[in-house]
Amino acid sequence: MLTTPCPTCRHPLEMSTPINNAPDTKPQAGDLSICINCGQVLQYNAIMSVEPIEISSIDLSVGNGAECVEVLTKAQKLIRQRGPIKKKTPGGD
Ligand SMILES: [Zn+2]
Repeated sequence: MLTTPCPTCRHPLEMSTPINNAPDTKPQAGDLSICINCGQVLQYNAIMSVEPIEISSIDLSVGNGAECVEVLTKAQKLIRQRGPIKKKTPGGD
């Protein structure tokens, strides 16, 4: 499983969930993701690391680009309204 820090906020990205909920779907190069901590939209590259991209750079004419933009825009707004995930403290809650 992918374990890499978000290139924007360094939050560890330990898992991904496909939006179609297919159980055996794994991310592929070019797929989009979003950091659950800071809301940065990310794109998998050829070595399956992630790079930050802007929503405005997504090509609406390719595949389900328009749907992706809508979902990512909503998700980013919700994540940024919530704010960063609180870090767990050793021995804390
Ligand atoms: Zn992040």
